[in-house]
Amino acid sequence: MERMTSTEARQAFLDFFEEMGHKPIASSSLVPANDPTLLFTNAGMVQFKDVFLGLDKRDYSRATTSQKCMRVSGKHNDLENVGPSPRHHTFFEMLGNFSFGDYFKRDAIKYAYTILTEVYKLPTDRLVYTVYENDDEAYDFWVKDVGVDPKRVARMGPSTNFWQMADTGPCGPTSEIHWDKTPEDGEDNIIELLQEEDDRFLEIWNLVFMQYNRQQADPDHTGEWDEPLPAPGVDTGMGLERIVAVLQGANANYETDLFMPIIERTQELTGQSDEERDANIVPYRVIADHIRAAVFLVNDGVLPGAKGRAAIPRLVIRRAARFGAKLGFDKPFLAQVADAVIDVMGEHYSELVEQADNIKHVITLEEERFHRTMERGLNELEAMLDELSDGGELSGEKAFYLKATLGLPIQVTKDIAEERGYTVDEVGFEEAEAEHAKISGGGQAMGEIESGERYNQIMQDLQADGSLGEGGVAYNPYTNDTAKSTVLSLLQDGTLVDSALVGDKVEIVLDTTHFYVESGGQVSDTGTISGDGWVIEVESMKKPVNGMIVHVGEVVEGNPNVGDTVTAQVDLTRRNSIIRNHTATHLLHASLRNNLGTHVQQKGSLVAPDRLRFDFSHHEKVTDKELATVATEINQAILKNYPVRAEEKSQEQAREEGAMALFGEKYGDVVRTVIIESDDDRYSYELCGGVHVGETAEIGTFVFTNEGSVSAGIRRVEALTGQAAIEYIQQKLDTLTLISDTLGTTQDQAIGRISALQAELSATRREVENLQRKLAKFNFDEMIETQLESINGKQALLAQLEGVPMDTMREMTDWFRNKVDNGVMVLASDINGKPQIIVAVSDALVKDGVKAGNLIKPIAQVVGGGGGGRPQMAQAGGKDSTKIPQALDKARELLAEA
Ligand code: ATP
Ligand code: MG
Repeated sequence: MERMTSTEARQAFLDFFEEMGHKPIASSSLVPANDPTLLFTNAGMVQFKDVFLGLDKRDYSRATTSQKCMRVSGKHNDLENVGPSPRHHTFFEMLGNFSFGDYFKRDAIKYAYTILTEVYKLPTDRLVYTVYENDDEAYDFWVKDVGVDPKRVARMGPSTNFWQMADTGPCGPTSEIHWDKTPEDGEDNIIELLQEEDDRFLEIWNLVFMQYNRQQADPDHTGEWDEPLPAPGVDTGMGLERIVAVLQGANANYETDLFMPIIERTQELTGQSDEERDANIVPYRVIADHIRAAVFLVNDGVLPGAKGRAAIPRLVIRRAARFGAKLGFDKPFLAQVADAVIDVMGEHYSELVEQADNIKHVITLEEERFHRTMERGLNELEAMLDELSDGGELSGEKAFYLKATLGLPIQVTKDIAEERGYTVDEVGFEEAEAEHAKISGGGQAMGEIESGERYNQIMQDLQADGSLGEGGVAYNPYTNDTAKSTVLSLLQDGTLVDSALVGDKVEIVLDTTHFYVESGGQVSDTGTISGDGWVIEVESMKKPVNGMIVHVGEVVEGNPNVGDTVTAQVDLTRRNSIIRNHTATHLLHASLRNNLGTHVQQKGSLVAPDRLRFDFSHHEKVTDKELATVATEINQAILKNYPVRAEEKSQEQAREEGAMALFGEKYGDVVRTVIIESDDDRYSYELCGGVHVGETAEIGTFVFTNEGSVSAGIRRVEALTGQAAIEYIQQKLDTLTLISDTLGTTQDQAIGRISALQAELSATRREVENLQRKLAKFNFDEMIETQLESINGKQALLAQLEGVPMDTMREMTDWFRNKVDNGVMVLASDINGKPQIIVAVSDALVKDGVKAGNLIKPIAQVVGGGGGGRPQMAQAGGKDSTKIPQALDKARELLAEA
């Protein structure tokens, strides 16, 4: 048997089939393209379905893949096997070879047998086979063509060995290859054991022969309605994890190099000994399986959520977190385990490495969400179970309540109930879920979420029933207060709903709000809205039409209902960072005009919690000195602690008073102005609807991080304030310390030390050059002594040099002409991979008509170049340095002829 790593085993499969004329095709996404009937890709043939159905043509008729698969729903749901089963995963890779009307049964069987026995070198006495009971062809290929002992081939019924894509359409018999775990038990009863699906055998590979087109559903498998397909095909699938387990002599897939690094990483984090780990192996395995699934799902763009595909990453992350809790983790840890997955799989799936940060971030966020409610969820479940009599059943409604209000996936509820000897009414759960969906009307996406008209309608309805006044939602972002308010509307996927569940993404309209809606460069606020027993995290804000202010977020706890009273709280830490940056932007605008000139006009800005960005008209780069002056002035304005106040007045009045406005911006008749001034001294005056600090000292400090160009005549600066600025400055100071420490001096003397080092370096360089020149001269003199030859009555020096720069070669022509009265010198050297040739001729020979410029052309041609020059000296370059010896031969030939 060939002991291979998983990477080698995967590659050996693809290489073998490529050699057999198959085109290697990359795995498709876990999300099937244009196939809404299928939650996830669950086999290699999924990306070729249309090819098999004749709806799509490819320029190849044989393909091979290693396909990412998920089996967590529908016909193939292996979720509950994960952990206890040594061979089932949610996420796994399926190796496959495919024939689209090309080869059929005989070759499919031959290929499978060849790769298993010759590439993977599996001993034949450990392989056993199944075929469909009526499939004499396949039986004969195994027994007669391949020569397998008939004792090792079992005929099986349709439940295991007949495949159909759907009730009608392509279908056909299959043949499976199994691994015998205990050959010492003898071969006499292999057939019976296979027919009983005994655990002695591990299914590794399934060969599907797409042979018929079924015209009518055939539940009794009579075959009556099966018509032969005009071009039969082959679809095979072998679990990579299983073949690797076989090749690595492992008892379970988890004991291979695909899983062990992941399990060991978890163990490192728990600090358990190997014995403790093995006593708790199920949680380790579940975590390893689920984290692989989470990493690959997130990488394919499936983010955790409440419904549909999104529910699966949520499920695997939460279930892994719950099993983590059993191992003692009380904080998010899965991102660190995800690192091990990315290490193991990153070589074949390089996109994981590129996306690593994002994947880990998504996983941690989901884990944190779960942690916030897990404890309460588990406590309530415990209490519910305590109320049951021994071995009782938890009602579907209660299980649904746990999911809907505390985000406990049904599978997690089931895990816990079963651990404690109870069952869960899953049918009742599904009914309760469907019932809720009906009441709340959720899930019917309207696809017109952004449509202003819809929001207008909602607002008019709210105004008609008196919930909202004429101006719409009362909007006052200029306060840090907590708002008491009422839920007027809830929307999900653009549809009005009465209530929502944990995990639902919702839009929520209140009668009054303090959340700022992005405008004038200042980003929207985030925060929380809480009602009785429920919480929504507000992630963003929007104003689809005037008067409608909409909070967008996710239910993280409980069930919000329309009509509930709430408290809404802006995230003030974030808000404070934002407003520091906003007021700083006004100081910046004023300071730029003071120092660069009044041609400076604001052209755009971003006021975020972590930085500010300001675009303005100015025709040249702002120099470092100018930036320093501007920053100093801003910091002085901060220190002066100007009060900042807002005033509403007519637009006319504001303009007359000289308030700065954004060119091209539309303002109403009454405008809000922001004034930064103390009694006698007005620093800044702008039209602005944003939120600001009360006094400039709150900004703390201001520092530029960047200056650049956006487009012709527009510059962009970026800057930090408050805590971010302090950290930035500290970082720069740390760098300075590192520099001075490295130089072995104080910070003040670092610059002096660098200048001294630079001077020392130039002096040393000059000295080296001098020495090199002396050395070259010395070598040259020696060359004249030893290599000067006489050709055709002339003295000649023909030589290949190494590592001599062009300048020195040129100098050598003078040295030669000074030393030799009646001679020709040809020097060649490889300089940076290119041949360089130089020719010098003594004056006496020049008089006789020998010209360097003429000589060099045919010589340079040999190295693929050209050149020319004066009669005394010529120089040429070329392309091929390996031809330098031939070029010198050519020179010798020319001199002999001349
Ligand atoms: P099993 O009976 O073991 O569940 P299956 O009949 O569902 O397997 P197929 O649908 O024929 O398997 O898939 C082809 C191959 O994919 C299998 O032979 C096996 O090697 C692998 N495979 C299937 N399901 C899983 C899984 N959940 N985890 C890992 N490998 C799997
Ligand atoms: Mg299965």
